[in-house]
Amino acid sequence: MLIDGFGRRINYIRVSVTERCNFRCQYCMPEKPFSWVPKENLLSFEELFLFLKVGIDEGVDKIRITGGEPLLRADLDRFIKMINDYKSDIDIAITTNGYLLKETAKRLKDAGLKRLNISLDSLKPEVAKQIAQKDVLHNVLEGIEESLEIGLKVKINSVPLKGINDDEIVDLLEYSKKRGVQIRFIEYMENVHANKNLKGLYGKEIVDEVRKKYIVKKVGREGSSPAFLYELEDGYRFGIIDPHKHDFCESCNRIRLTAEGHIIPCLYFDEAMSIADAVKKGDVEAASEVLREVIKNKPEKNRWDENLNQEDISARAFYETGG
Ligand code: SAM
Ligand code: SF4
Repeated sequence: MLIDGFGRRINYIRVSVTERCNFRCQYCMPEKPFSWVPKENLLSFEELFLFLKVGIDEGVDKIRITGGEPLLRADLDRFIKMINDYKSDIDIAITTNGYLLKETAKRLKDAGLKRLNISLDSLKPEVAKQIAQKDVLHNVLEGIEESLEIGLKVKINSVPLKGINDDEIVDLLEYSKKRGVQIRFIEYMENVHANKNLKGLYGKEIVDEVRKKYIVKKVGREGSSPAFLYELEDGYRFGIIDPHKHDFCESCNRIRLTAEGHIIPCLYFDEAMSIADAVKKGDVEAASEVLREVIKNKPEKNRWDENLNQEDISARAFYETGG
């Protein structure tokens, strides 16, 4: 079992399979030209899987595949199948921008994928284009419909930004509610790679928007999920992911593995250790040692704060850690 220095049990690995992306979201990598291809020293699926097995043998039961855009990595279904064949009760999920889902969802499900989080920041084509810097909405909506049709469990992720999509909070909630899908609004996390002019909404501001139309009841945090849940009168639940709140990190149960083999104990900080050499040599013992060391040194909490100073802005790139 993996327990960190603050007594938190780590049972969740988020694995980023590439830094590449077919979007250029304002809050993630707005300044990279579309022609930019990161010089990634990617680990193979076999190498990533060797590390995941070490985690699974130590009690990890939840794995989320992310990126960059994970669906850009060919054969992703093969990776999912490897995990599923090793232990079929692992909760395998993907976080995706949804653009390529229409063509890939069925293959991913057949390989053992259970759940998908799909990012959807706007229902207006022009606003979606402004955020992703590409005309994306049609494909994303098609991807959501296809995933639901074939029976995948879907959640929607949405980042409200002042003056851009903050007038769509209720529309996005109603779009999700109509489809029986949970929406989670994520507070914009300041980072040096994002568009400098962005301003996010704090959780309480997002809930206030919903309260303009609905009676909203607080439910609470669901297990180790980062989302704080709220409920409408008809029982529909939505979530707020609020890393600027002080209690956010108390039940953190996760570590992140990048496509190049760095294990990152906290989304905010730069600290990381590499398992690349270990897995390339097939050295399970060495990979296991690095994993234990990272978990021993996992920070107690992030430093996002409502009164964030300029020098405290995180240098970690979301397209590298996978969010
Ligand atoms: N490309 C995929 C996607 O967009 O869903 C997966 C990777 S993306 C880095 C994972 C999640 O992080 C997305 O839901 C995205 O909206 C969120 N994200 C990226 N940058 C963020 C930021 N600065 N603040 C809050 N959420 C962010
Ligand atoms: Fe790509 Fe996701 Fe980053 Fe947007 S948030 S640029 S879709 S990795």
